Amino acid sequence: MADWANDPALADWPGPVKYIPSPDLAVAKFGWPGVAQYQAWMYRPDPPVFVPTALLIIDMQNDFCGPNGSLAVQGGRELGTGINEVLNEGYFVLKIATRDFHPADHISFATQHPGAEPFTSTYTITSPENPQEKQTTTLWPPHCVQGTEGCELIHELDVWRLTHIIDKGQDKRVESYSGFGPPFENPAVSMSGLADLLNEHGIQKVEIVGLALDYCVKHTAIDAAKLGFETHVLMNLTQAVDQSKENMAAVHRELTDHGVIPLLVRTKAVTDEDVPGIDQYWAEIEAMGKLALHESVSQHE
Ligand SMILES: [Zn+2]
Repeated sequence: MADWANDPALADWPGPVKYIPSPDLAVAKFGWPGVAQYQAWMYRPDPPVFVPTALLIIDMQNDFCGPNGSLAVQGGRELGTGINEVLNEGYFVLKIATRDFHPADHISFATQHPGAEPFTSTYTITSPENPQEKQTTTLWPPHCVQGTEGCELIHELDVWRLTHIIDKGQDKRVESYSGFGPPFENPAVSMSGLADLLNEHGIQKVEIVGLALDYCVKHTAIDAAKLGFETHVLMNLTQAVDQSKENMAAVHRELTDHGVIPLLVRTKAVTDEDVPGIDQYWAEIEAMGKLALHESVSQHE
């Protein structure tokens, strides 16, 4: 737990504030006076150690996981338990899952290119808005097609704890490994809205988990760092398509070259042992469920 747990600025909070570092939970627990106080604290001139942080869970979808995924990453599904532990932490202001969300005729599918082989063939995509901008990419077996089982988030994930789901890759003309959108810059094409979402919530730091380390996780992380977010990849909560030592070292280097910090995370959830009363608190929040959170917010908008 960060120092905000003992911050004197929180002394007057109408309840066990130190367990509630997220505005959504403050609404649920205390209504809008609680949120005003939360914001006054969060944006005070001399901020405490707590930094508004978002958890980004990248592409934890059936097609990227065994046993039936068309593009299964080894050990992918097994990440669910550890990711749920992190997802359970009140520390995050936003808890966002991304989905690869392709039409059936997406440009990244080898089946769309006569003679191409998945995993080995590459294809150079030209920006539909600017013939000067190009992106050479690997071709894949069809995966994460909208409306299919393969496109769904894995059932092991505590989806109800998410605050948002961001879809990417809907534009059949371009590839989008990054959760932020395709790599084209002049102009940007078919961006996902993730950057706006983070900025609207005053996010300063992102922690990234999910699949796959050497593609969507890496590109999301590099984009996040370029956008100015302090960016961590939680290395024990991600898996790569190519898990060879050489590739892992190369990915590690590429991340750090772009200012991304690879970290190992403790996945032990906070318990009553650490903070008396927190088990009861989470039981109450859990009983209210996500619907209650949404109702509470919409009443006041
Ligand atoms: Zn894809």
